[in-house]
Amino acid sequence: MKAYVDDDLCIGCGTCPEVCPDVFHMTDEGIAHAIDGDIPEDVLGIAKQARDSCPVEAIDIDD
Ligand code: SF4
Repeated sequence: MKAYVDDDLCIGCGTCPEVCPDVFHMTDEGIAHAIDGDIPEDVLGIAKQARDSCPVEAIDIDD
């Protein structure tokens, strides 16, 4: 499974990297970015938590 951040929607609140730093990080532009590869199995639940915590629903996890 992969995670995607819609950079048109992201408001750079910083929540997702705080909740799940293994999958999300902030870029120099101040928006979140997800790792390119598959989400590691052991952090999948936390990655979904980060998705659900996003105030603007900018995160998509395909499953
Ligand atoms: S939680 Fe949502 S709005 Fe906040 S940084 Fe992550 S993707 Fe952007």
